[in-house]
Amino acid sequence: MSGGAEGSLAASFRRLIAATGPISLAHYMAEANARYYGSRDPFGTAGDFITAPEISQMFGELVGLWLADMWHRAGQNAGQSGPVHYVELGPGRATLARDALRAMGHAGLRPQVHLVEGSPALREIQREAVPQAHWHHDLSSLPTDGPILLVANEFLDALPVRQLVKTAQGWRERMVAVDESGGFVCIAGSTPMDAAVPEDRREAEEGTLIETCPAAAAVVQEVAGRLAAQGGAALFIDYGHAQPRTGSTLQAVRAHRKVDPFADPGEADLTTHVDFATLAPLAQAQGARWLGTTGQGPWLTALGIDARTDALSRAAPHLAGEVAAARHRLVSEEEMGDLFKVMGLAAPGWPQGAGF
Ligand code: SAH
Repeated sequence: MSGGAEGSLAASFRRLIAATGPISLAHYMAEANARYYGSRDPFGTAGDFITAPEISQMFGELVGLWLADMWHRAGQNAGQSGPVHYVELGPGRATLARDALRAMGHAGLRPQVHLVEGSPALREIQREAVPQAHWHHDLSSLPTDGPILLVANEFLDALPVRQLVKTAQGWRERMVAVDESGGFVCIAGSTPMDAAVPEDRREAEEGTLIETCPAAAAVVQEVAGRLAAQGGAALFIDYGHAQPRTGSTLQAVRAHRKVDPFADPGEADLTTHVDFATLAPLAQAQGARWLGTTGQGPWLTALGIDARTDALSRAAPHLAGEVAAARHRLVSEEEMGDLFKVMGLAAPGWPQGAGF
């Protein structure tokens, strides 16, 4: 196991578990992803995975046009209070930011740029793409003086989840322990966790596993509260489900392959499905308007990805095949079109969003 090397995260987890006992899965996932993203550029064919903005410029352009359309249609209300801010959570290589800002510029909107990014390695890459940006470690330091136009693509899926399992003794948290051969294994913790299970889900058969993501809930609540107070609109785009479900969705991807999430912590991208069904009411409770949650395919189609595909193909006929393939990947049901969802939020009084 390469993760056994001195200085590896696996080695420090083993020492920690030996000293203080099993750690929560959320702790494991948070540290593994902080190490993973902090030390590399994971995107693209040479990296571990490819995201929608890296597949085609059309994705970021349509996101930018959606935000600009919201801004223009919000009209007077939007302009009343200070500068408008483009905010992106977990911008990766800032490809989406660059494409969205270019499209917004064509639509007559030049917002200030705020990127929330935890990884020093990715911040360096973002600085090349969007030199005018301001960086933030988390949402707390984002400006409060004007409306925000926010996007988060594949951000919530990287936040740590808590897994709760129903045992004969009640609900317990899934913890990470070390077995005799030094490998990481999941066990049920000893602390009763019934209070952490949503009330309507407590009565479940023994063996039932549910995931909750307190970190994603906190992000959506913070964004929704800011929309209500400052004005603006937000898009959360991620793979996930629109209805509550049971079972583990934790997965690890390395070099475009699924690998064991417990084999080499910090060396693969750990993600889970985003539970959009839970997030929408949390946003509404903060006073934001929920515009809808829909598939990425129908959303991009409603925004005109077909016309954009044709235009790009006419402008560069030698790339027509590539552009058509990218469109298919983003939109078709067998690829990203159905699994990936788009959740739209806005300030009360802001218009209904296109595509919902
Ligand atoms: N939106 C980009 C990248 C998605 S990968 C794209 O679509 O290509 C996840 C991104 O979120 C990375 O930029 C990663 O560094 C960042 N990230 C993950 N967890 C974070 C956290 N807790 N705080 C801030 N940024 C985080």
